[in-house]
Amino acid sequence: MYHPVKISALAGLSVLSLAHCTQQKSDPRPNIIYIMADDHAFQAISAYGGPLKDLAPTPNIDRIAQNGMRFDRCLVTNSICGPCRAVVLTGKYSHMNGFIDNTGRTPFDGSQQTFPKLLQASGYQTAMIGKWHLDSDPTGFDYWDILNGQGNYYNPDFISKDGTITEKGYVTELITQKSLNWLAKAKGSGKPFMLMMHHKAPHREWQPGPNELKLYKDVNFPEPPTLFDDYANRGLAEKSQDMTIDKTMRLEEDLKLYRDPEKPKNSGLQRMDSAQNAAWDAVYNPIIEKFYASGLSGKELVSYKYQRYLQDYLACIAAVDKSVGEVLDFLQENGLDKNTIVIYTSDQGFYLGEHGWFDKRWMFEESYRTPLLIEWPGTIAPGTVNGDMVSNLDYAETILEMAGVAVPDDMQGRSMLPILKGNTPADWRTEHYYHYYEYPGYHMVKRHYGMSTMRYKLIHYYYDIDEWELYDREADPLEMRNVYNDPAYDSIKAELHIQLDSLMKKYQDSDSLARTYLPVESVQ
Ligand code: CA
Repeated sequence: MYHPVKISALAGLSVLSLAHCTQQKSDPRPNIIYIMADDHAFQAISAYGGPLKDLAPTPNIDRIAQNGMRFDRCLVTNSICGPCRAVVLTGKYSHMNGFIDNTGRTPFDGSQQTFPKLLQASGYQTAMIGKWHLDSDPTGFDYWDILNGQGNYYNPDFISKDGTITEKGYVTELITQKSLNWLAKAKGSGKPFMLMMHHKAPHREWQPGPNELKLYKDVNFPEPPTLFDDYANRGLAEKSQDMTIDKTMRLEEDLKLYRDPEKPKNSGLQRMDSAQNAAWDAVYNPIIEKFYASGLSGKELVSYKYQRYLQDYLACIAAVDKSVGEVLDFLQENGLDKNTIVIYTSDQGFYLGEHGWFDKRWMFEESYRTPLLIEWPGTIAPGTVNGDMVSNLDYAETILEMAGVAVPDDMQGRSMLPILKGNTPADWRTEHYYHYYEYPGYHMVKRHYGMSTMRYKLIHYYYDIDEWELYDREADPLEMRNVYNDPAYDSIKAELHIQLDSLMKKYQDSDSLARTYLPVESVQ
């Protein structure tokens, strides 16, 4: 057994002595591998079931669920890439860690407290490999090797302490190889390790790797029941959004239906070498030819775009799944599987055609919920499913407690350790606060904050409009009907308003603070 490590501002000396003593081979604390994909919908993980599970299975990611715990209600606090990463690192809401949106208004302040720094100070070896996307260099890591911004799928640039280099190959495979290389070095050092392995995939524009190009090209995926949502019974936010497969998804850049065989520079595909390019063209050219000969329009065109979208998106995930398998195999082959915790998650959820959308941002279910699977042999019972309301706000606290490091008081989430052991605390949260800021901006989803219980969601669109929405997920699981003005909900509405006020107070957020964030055009 290991003992909790006390960290305090006054205890610099004891932290140092602890770091020294934990460098001995006797440190029994668990290794931790945190694998995070980018935009990986829970609907696209077969362990979660659903209509895609047999058509596009993820057998390796499912191994984590089989060996450990699957979380069915893990909610993010602000469903957009960079801000989610900042929440994970700090255990704090966006307005507290300062990274509220992806507009580049400010880089992530790496001088602040993060869980990797605390782990490092307690004697862990720490590494960050893959997509970082926080506009400042990583801090708290002994080793880091990150993609440049969003990164490229083919022959991407990686940035490390030594500078920038272009690696030849496919991004998911490169991140895997770099991670395995680091693990091979870390395992023999006698210190426990914590690796953050962040995939770029399956982020837009969903460019499949050389080994998955043909995987789903002839597969027909079932359409979600709300693909042709007309946003009746909802407000201006839904009616004015800009993220539909119909209007926002681009035939060329998103679906790779390039009329010109010379692919545009901004697609990233010009980075391919001639062999990669030839393999790509052999698959896509017949698709392109057939599409432009078809003359599709209207609903038929939307259905076609949905299929092309899923074929590419799921092919990107197949490479991520293979990567997870390689990491799990490495742990087994090196006798590390018994004392290594593996966490699989995504920075947020994603729409796969629900409400006619792709992308994320909203407090609606598919982007608000993110997949979370954790295995920890000997601690988490295999094959367990948990329905508690957990959050990416809890990851930092949970990982610290896994490592026996005291959780600082100013973190805003809560360690999930008791839940992992099968003992959900009686006072575990039953309501969750959300706040999305990125508007005006790309995709144009209006700013909103709100709260959810297991059954209801109360949402306030507040920036250039003032509209409230209320959803009853029990009566309306697909979230198609705003019942805010339905008198039948008057009393629950009043209760939820009180709960929302109290959550905003608890997390030190407020409507007036939210309005101080000007559009990025004004701050740049
Ligand atoms: Ca993302």
